Amino acid sequence: MRRSRAFIPTTKEAPSDATLASHIFLSRAGFVSQVASGLYNYMPLGKRVIKKIEKVINEEMSKAGAQEVELSFVTPADLWAESGRIEKFGKELLRFRDRKENLFVLGPTHEEMMVDLVRNRVTSYKQLPMNLYQIKTKFRDEARPRFGLMRGREFIMKDGYSFHANEADMDREFDAMEEAYKKILIRLGLDFRIVEADSGAIGGSGSKELMVIAGSGEDTIAICSKCEYGANIEAAIRTPRTDLPEAPEGAFNKFQTPAIKTIDDLAAFFKIDPYYTIKCVAKRVIYEEDSEIVLYFLRGSDNLQEVKALNAAGALDITDVSEEELQELGLIPGFIGPLDQSKAKHVMDIELKGATSMVCGANESDQHFVNVDLSILDEAAYFYDIAEVNEGDCCPRCDGTLSFTKGIEVGHIFKLGTTYSAALKAEFLDENGKAQPFVMGTYGMGVSRLVAAIIEQNHDENGCIWTKESAPYMVNIMVSNIKEDAQVALGEELYANLNNLGIETMLDDRKERFGFKMKDAELIGFPYTVIIGKELESGLAEIYVRATNEKISVNASELVTKIRELI
Ligand code: ATP
Ligand code: MG
Repeated sequence: MRRSRAFIPTTKEAPSDATLASHIFLSRAGFVSQVASGLYNYMPLGKRVIKKIEKVINEEMSKAGAQEVELSFVTPADLWAESGRIEKFGKELLRFRDRKENLFVLGPTHEEMMVDLVRNRVTSYKQLPMNLYQIKTKFRDEARPRFGLMRGREFIMKDGYSFHANEADMDREFDAMEEAYKKILIRLGLDFRIVEADSGAIGGSGSKELMVIAGSGEDTIAICSKCEYGANIEAAIRTPRTDLPEAPEGAFNKFQTPAIKTIDDLAAFFKIDPYYTIKCVAKRVIYEEDSEIVLYFLRGSDNLQEVKALNAAGALDITDVSEEELQELGLIPGFIGPLDQSKAKHVMDIELKGATSMVCGANESDQHFVNVDLSILDEAAYFYDIAEVNEGDCCPRCDGTLSFTKGIEVGHIFKLGTTYSAALKAEFLDENGKAQPFVMGTYGMGVSRLVAAIIEQNHDENGCIWTKESAPYMVNIMVSNIKEDAQVALGEELYANLNNLGIETMLDDRKERFGFKMKDAELIGFPYTVIIGKELESGLAEIYVRATNEKISVNASELVTKIRELI
């Protein structure tokens, strides 16, 4: 492409709401333009990057035996009613009626559609396994679209769904997809980590996320200092402490604790470690039809993990409650303890099971119990892992310690089991001729989010730094002085040669100052820029390497060889 003909509207100004480097540079360098909140146009450079990523995905999917399909973006609301997700998805689903008053939904993901495609078409175990995927626009009316392509309302996703005759085969495919996703991210030149993810109410290790490591990531991940263990903070677990602080001694008793309402004050008052105090976090949990207040109890040294809390209650959403709401139930904020279960539903952290020497609220104003032995709680008490791991906690897999880092979720793979196939009655006949619902896996990857993630991880103060497999053009040829015939001639020759070799090349033939063109090249982030300037008089040119900021002096006659060597 000749730069003089290219539609690449670079600007000095970033969008006013842009805070992330990727948002700023992708806009300034003319890759994308915003249409409305969470809606973007891809301009030629942006479209090329998308195609690059899609190519890598398609190649790896094809190697893994997955087949590409394309399902309708507009999906019948009936299917969403059949799976029961029309309520669960809530306002993120964009619904509308056609001229015949039929209700439709813009696809935010395609489980229902894919199951519907396969049901009654795949009917025997002999046709299994099958893995179908698409790369397709999705729409989610996100509450807070932000950070450019990172969290759009309309975005591009690779979504795959696999169908199996049994769980063992689903597990095998899940591992194969994890491998394929790994290869994709390695080829795209990303530093990433595969972590255990929240699997919702189902639980277990049936869900993993692919996290691109970046300080700006919205997700916190806990990783082990010694082994491969990594988990989203929403799902991270730990081995309980063994280096316990000294336990308070004495008999069960009730104590006057005037106006002692916080854990810090309580621990200081009794001169004990917060580990031996019980914290109560009250939340309103929201179900499909109604809601209720749940009291979550955990050690004073821990914090409530809201996603775990949500799963423990089997709820759809969780919100804060006011002191007034608690008082209406007869609860006394600051003095709520787990021994009186009559006023609200209790959920206890698993590490409180059988705990002794504890201090907790006595459910009376200005009163706490000391030396509480929780093994007196009846069998029915509800224990669940609801605590958030802390940095320094012990790894659940080895004796290493956990530390936190930030990540961008670019992919999510999930063992679905029969959730959707059973709801949609998608069945096959097994070896004994018995009808069974398909056992399914689902594999998502954020294609447009990857564009942003690549730049989050690869940029400097001057702009984008594309990795080799994601770059919109590999080489940019810059003729420094358009009035110099020899420079122009070499630029044209090199341009023709590289194109013939299939190396995607831009020829910057604009009549602009060298400094301006160089800034533009840095902003766009071509991996290599060949600078043809004054030194051509002595037969030399330069190759500027964007990633390292190096300038390599090369004999004009050896440019092609050197470029091929570099890439
Ligand atoms: P998040 O937690 O970031 O909202 P999600 O859990 O809703 O993501 P999935 O339903 O697992 O996402 O979708 C699969 C992939 O699609 C995600 O891993 C992510 O890369 C991408 N994705 C999801 N929502 C968006 C969005 N609003 N904009 C861009 N990409 C998205
Ligand atoms: Mg997810």
